[in-house]
Amino acid sequence: MPKTDQEKGYASIKNGAYKLKGIFHTIEKNQPIFNEDTKKLAGVTNPRDMTYVHSYGGEAIFFESLGKGKLMATRCDNSKCESKGSVYLPFRIYCPDCLRKNTPIDITKKAQQTARIYSYIITERSGAFNTLPKPIKFVNVEFDKEVVTILMSVLVVGEPEIGKRIIPIFRTKNPTYTIMDLMFVTEGTKESELPNGFSF
Ligand SMILES: [Zn+2]
Repeated sequence: MPKTDQEKGYASIKNGAYKLKGIFHTIEKNQPIFNEDTKKLAGVTNPRDMTYVHSYGGEAIFFESLGKGKLMATRCDNSKCESKGSVYLPFRIYCPDCLRKNTPIDITKKAQQTARIYSYIITERSGAFNTLPKPIKFVNVEFDKEVVTILMSVLVVGEPEIGKRIIPIFRTKNPTYTIMDLMFVTEGTKESELPNGFSF
């Protein structure tokens, strides 16, 4: 049964400290597990319900930007680093080579103009808590040469094919502030074909 607002946990930050309000973990009555053939006890279920507080830290700008229709990556701008100019997406707060802080950059246009399917996998069955439409078309996305990483995402309109041009879409209406606010569609997809709440 969905929880009421009073049964949920809420977090905010004030004066540099987390403020928690509400209920973050609920314990429910456990149940025995009996072997129907032998009538003997085999174990118990252990119902747990908890709200996890996930801090984004330096990645917050990436998730906040998705809801505004922007794809953010990072770039090493350290002139003493051999990897200077390398662009990272997934968003890396620090350069893996010189360990200096990277610069967040907007690569929305680059993604719209260069994103391609590097590889893909179609998943017919998913794990717990899946909310993606099945079969799930997971895609490994490559951009131009500046972007030295491959992004894992999901194709929600069109059929995947290696090398196919794809376009990012963003959940700009009621964003979840998670990676679920970013998906891809094949080039040529019309605005009217996008999932609810998404735009180019
Ligand atoms: Zn570097």
